[in-house]
Amino acid sequence: AAKRSGQHKVMQFNSAQPEKTRRWLELAGQMATALQQRQYFLVYQPRIALHDGQVAGFEVLVRWQTPQGLISPGEFIPVAEETGFILELGRWILDQAIAQLASWQREQLAVGRLAINLSTRQLSDAGLQAFLLQSCARHGVDPAQLELEVTETVAMENLDWALPVLQQLRTLGLQIALDDFGTGYSSLAYLQQLPVSVLKIDLAFVRNLDREEGRAVVHTIITLARTLGCSTVAEGVETTAQRDWLLANGCHEMQGFLEARPMPADAVAGYLQAKAQG
Ligand code: C2E
Ligand code: MG
Ligand code: MG
Ligand code: MG
Repeated sequence: AAKRSGQHKVMQFNSAQPEKTRRWLELAGQMATALQQRQYFLVYQPRIALHDGQVAGFEVLVRWQTPQGLISPGEFIPVAEETGFILELGRWILDQAIAQLASWQREQLAVGRLAINLSTRQLSDAGLQAFLLQSCARHGVDPAQLELEVTETVAMENLDWALPVLQQLRTLGLQIALDDFGTGYSSLAYLQQLPVSVLKIDLAFVRNLDREEGRAVVHTIITLARTLGCSTVAEGVETTAQRDWLLANGCHEMQGFLEARPMPADAVAGYLQAKAQG
């Protein structure tokens, strides 16, 4: 039913923006078969504790390899959300990531926690918690090793039903992070209600750290996080100047090309080894 309504939307879209619609239809039409054909894979980007430079965990990011080339999640995730396919893809991502974490733990690799992005649509999936618990149990992973990233606006616009879901996930031991923090318009009153333990500072703010106003904004976010009892992760850290400022100003973790680009699972052991050897 979700798929049908998604396709209905395309028809309305069609007359207004034919160009975008052709691409949309192409992606929407191919994404389910792509799962059967194993065209999706996960990449992992390390999150580094700023105070000691150690790996605190990894963020899981999905990729779609088509015969014609790689498609970025920025392009296909919104389509998957609109068609409803994100429910199926999202479960595959969760299970795949949990299986990978279990495998790393068996190899005794110190990968830390895995942070998995969750779309709004998945939060409204009534079977989400049961699925997560089953997957963790099957692979032998402690849910406390997982963090779910939800966007600020997602949680805010759907607070009535999102709040109990987030609270239940929290009760199961999972950490909740607010992704792209600062790009929405959350009030303090609203934020205080959320069972969130991590704020991820959007890379747009990190990029502005070379300007005085940019630094003031990030400083405010870090202060706000402290008030809420949350830790902070800076996204998109690309320079040592950004890293040094973040460390000096109380940000907890960083993620970005300065440390490493997202890497395939089989590169993680080598990355950790090279890091340990300095
Ligand atoms: P996000 O969750 O905010 O992920 C951070 C994005 O920043 C990733 O892009 C990552 O590759 C990129 N990035 C990391 N470090 C740097 C840096 O130093 N500089 C720059 N310029 N970029 C950096 P990616 O992988 O293309 O993902 C884009 C978005 O797609 C994600 O934003 C997330 O919203 C969504 N997404 C990705 N994977 C998944 C997934 O498995 N499920 C869901 N629902 N959404 C996903
Ligand atoms: Mg994220
Ligand atoms: Mg983000
Ligand atoms: Mg983002």
